Amino acid sequence: MILPIYAYGHPVLRKETEEIDKDYPELHQLVFNMFETMYQANGVGIAAPQVGIPIRLFLVDTAQIEEDEEKGLKMAFINPEILEETGEDCLHEEGCLSIPKVRGDVSRPEKVKIRFFDIDFNEYIEEFDGYTARVIQHEYDHIEGILFTDLLKPIKKRLIKRRLEKIKQGDVDAEYRMKFGVKRR
Ligand code: ZN
Repeated sequence: MILPIYAYGHPVLRKETEEIDKDYPELHQLVFNMFETMYQANGVGIAAPQVGIPIRLFLVDTAQIEEDEEKGLKMAFINPEILEETGEDCLHEEGCLSIPKVRGDVSRPEKVKIRFFDIDFNEYIEEFDGYTARVIQHEYDHIEGILFTDLLKPIKKRLIKRRLEKIKQGDVDAEYRMKFGVKRR
């Protein structure tokens, strides 16, 4: 089932998220639905708050776009915790399914070491780099209530301010179903 994606300005994107356990109801179904929702919107990652659920869960699929299959990753991250970020800071353009048609350069360390559980609650500690690390950092921020637009340079923030305000009001043409924090007029 394709879920609506919650837009910039919806309070759920800023809400504190909770860890989940094995008994979380219909977790497999939720992860399946989130993957479907992400693919339908041409995304490479999606976090639970973006479908209106403030829990510590996000998905990544960089395997669909990495030419080198070894480098790509398709994974659900449950109760993740970033242990370390290392390497040089890299500037890369990002976008977000919750913030349609806004893109901007964000600086992040090149490598990320993260502890997480998969959907069967097996624990992993792994290090990622390159594009996969970037997507993980972006999605991890979501479950911390941070959006990539928070991380832009002040001048860029000023440039997109009106656009963000419009998205908040529901004034945006996304190619997928969205849910807004403010009622549409
Ligand atoms: Zn995002």
